[in-house]
Amino acid sequence: MTHPVIPIVANPDALKGDGVGCHSGKDQLAAAARAAGKSDTLDQYAQDYPKGPHDQPQSMCPAFGSLRVGLRMKRTATILSGSACCVYGLTFTSHFYGARRSVGYVPFDSESLVTGKLFEDIRDAVHAEADPSRYDAIVIINLCVPTASGVPLQILPKEINGVRVIGIDVPGFGVPTHAEAKDVLAAAMLRYARTEIGAGPVAAPANRVTDKPTVTLLGEMFPADPMIIGMMLGLMGLAAGPVVPTREWRELYTALDCAAVAAIHPFYTASLREFDAAGRVAVGSAPVGHDGTEAWLQAIGNACNVEQALIDAAKNKMLPAIKGALSAMPIKGRMTLSGYEGSELLVARLLVESGADLRYVGTACPKTPYSDADREWLESRGVHVQYRASLEQDIAAVNEFKPDIAIGTTPVVQAAKELSIPSLYFTNLISARPLMGPAGAGSLATVINAAITNKPRMDTMKAFFGDTGEGDRAGVWEGVPVDRPEFRAETRRRMEKAAKKRKAEEMI
Ligand code: SF4
Repeated sequence: MTHPVIPIVANPDALKGDGVGCHSGKDQLAAAARAAGKSDTLDQYAQDYPKGPHDQPQSMCPAFGSLRVGLRMKRTATILSGSACCVYGLTFTSHFYGARRSVGYVPFDSESLVTGKLFEDIRDAVHAEADPSRYDAIVIINLCVPTASGVPLQILPKEINGVRVIGIDVPGFGVPTHAEAKDVLAAAMLRYARTEIGAGPVAAPANRVTDKPTVTLLGEMFPADPMIIGMMLGLMGLAAGPVVPTREWRELYTALDCAAVAAIHPFYTASLREFDAAGRVAVGSAPVGHDGTEAWLQAIGNACNVEQALIDAAKNKMLPAIKGALSAMPIKGRMTLSGYEGSELLVARLLVESGADLRYVGTACPKTPYSDADREWLESRGVHVQYRASLEQDIAAVNEFKPDIAIGTTPVVQAAKELSIPSLYFTNLISARPLMGPAGAGSLATVINAAITNKPRMDTMKAFFGDTGEGDRAGVWEGVPVDRPEFRAETRRRMEKAAKKRKAEEMI
């Protein structure tokens, strides 16, 4: 198949310098992307995902969020366009997290990037993949360098052989976290589905089982949570709709065809814009703990015009059960909490209601109106809430509050363990548990209380190992490691010289 070459704005600048990507060259890439016609996209991202101290990936590549959403969707092919090292890392991570799909990749080199041939290669790849017997949709994701070079995914055909084509830019210099990258793809799909609905009748979802008004659930959650929420909604004559990001294309239609949207994860700004455009009301927070469930049932009931008597009946049924579960499984101890999933404030509420002495919550996600109620509730109980928390802030909180347990991201857990403070990974051990309603109340206590009792073991290990393996002495050595301050000084001198040289070149 041949196509005329579509010239793109050549950006050799995007490949200059001492390295481009999340480790350096962010400003250079962003400037190159703007010069290449991506200003609208970057401006929209800046509005949707306001930056803070955590404006640079401090965890995984943000594009992982979009990739994961694509890979989890049935009959969807996901293709990456980016540097091989980025694609290697993203592919590795997606399989580490159990993706059972292939990740598509359109490679490039300097020449194909600056001549526009990369766009042609992408278009050929999309045409080759567009088999309606296998796919409903093909997602193609521009990573940092193709975005900076202006590879124009927006001019790909919107549909080939009945297969929808969705091209998105997800650069690390425009989308701060992988959580928000999920929103980028979810919103692009919702927008496409909304356009389809506007154009005429669409296919009914295969698994629609209710005629009741539904509440769409925004944000990934533990598989039991939508069922628990559905049970609570049933008491008010409502039903749980699909979870967005959805697992199949037709669920997007059901998601849009809802009575209200529950913004369980509050950072889905672009997706909420699509629901707003469809005339749907959104409700923040979630049914976590006693107070959270009480407020949420009321807010959802109001949004869906449910009679107060039904709302009260639902509360009367659920709230005593939640209170009982919370008091049966108390959590005792001082703690800090940090994560990048978007559910941090909800988990924090549950911990406080379980009796924990929580001092600090750090989330990599931004402040949005949909987490205001949670923030206010936590702050009124003396918890410091830090949006866009940097790793340095999370670790500073551990140092300051000296918790009995630190719940956090991998580097926070590592830092806490070095201080012999028991710690738990937020993503693997906390956010992978039910949080909602009576199932959530008490679900965290066992794992947290057990971890707190590990303190004597941590102390024993610390006493045994001392400062072995710390700092420069980490790794495997045949002899006793020797400090080499002169090497460190020489490295610093070279880095300063290189920085000065770069600065001088910029001024030319
Ligand atoms: S695509 Fe991801 S891994 Fe690659 S440079 Fe950008 S942020 Fe870093």
